[in-house]
Amino acid sequence: MNFILFNKFNEKLNKISAIFMLLIKINLMQNGKKATGLCAVNGFTLNELVLEMGDNHLCTSDDTPLRPDAFDMSSEEKVKKIEGLFRQVMETLGLDLNDDSLRGTPLRVAKMYVEETFRGLDPEHKPAITLFDNKYHYNQMLVEKDITVYSHCEHHFVPIYGKAHVGYISSGKVIGLSKLNRLVDYYARRPQVQERLTMQIGHALQQVLDTENVAVVIDAKHLCVASRGIRDTHSATVTSFYGGKFGHSAVKEEFLRYVSMTTVY
Ligand SMILES: [Zn+2]
Repeated sequence: MNFILFNKFNEKLNKISAIFMLLIKINLMQNGKKATGLCAVNGFTLNELVLEMGDNHLCTSDDTPLRPDAFDMSSEEKVKKIEGLFRQVMETLGLDLNDDSLRGTPLRVAKMYVEETFRGLDPEHKPAITLFDNKYHYNQMLVEKDITVYSHCEHHFVPIYGKAHVGYISSGKVIGLSKLNRLVDYYARRPQVQERLTMQIGHALQQVLDTENVAVVIDAKHLCVASRGIRDTHSATVTSFYGGKFGHSAVKEEFLRYVSMTTVY
């Protein structure tokens, strides 16, 4: 690539990255203070640090970093704004939005972001959980395995997909089984890193079930690893959360044994 072409390419990258920053700022906090602090420690420029964190899939906290004004805009307003911004991304890439096939893409992407893939950012969408008294006095472990996980990597905005396995030992209350799936789905529908997703599900289950005795394992593929960068289509990432009794090796082993069982129907 010659020098002029390289500069043009860089200009395009900068423009697209600025637009994506704006897109992300609609829902997420930039967290400038933390980044500046790390920057001083490691001697990286802010840009270098941000790229390095993304490529190494690091996250900054257990909570999804949301801006204080994350929900000032209505969902309809967000769709409208993202539609305009995504149109700019496509135009910057040189695509002709007059083409019938591309014309509707900005609106489709905007609706998908707000109403589907990132709807779990809004606490109003957290599933209402009703607990029942454990009248049958079942006091063993309950495991819900192979729960489908569809999420998005917060560093590249491409899918993470796989399975979650959750378990708990009742403290006297039980939860409707499908609520476990719904809770996993709620936290998955955010820009995520797998470690945070695992912890958020674990902590939420501990809170709703009023027990420390909760386990979560997620086994997932990251398209940012499979389709770009190292382009490894075979590797998968496993993360875990063990609270209360699940910290004991015998209980943990029992849980993992159930998870690895093949269910034949
Ligand atoms: Zn990624």
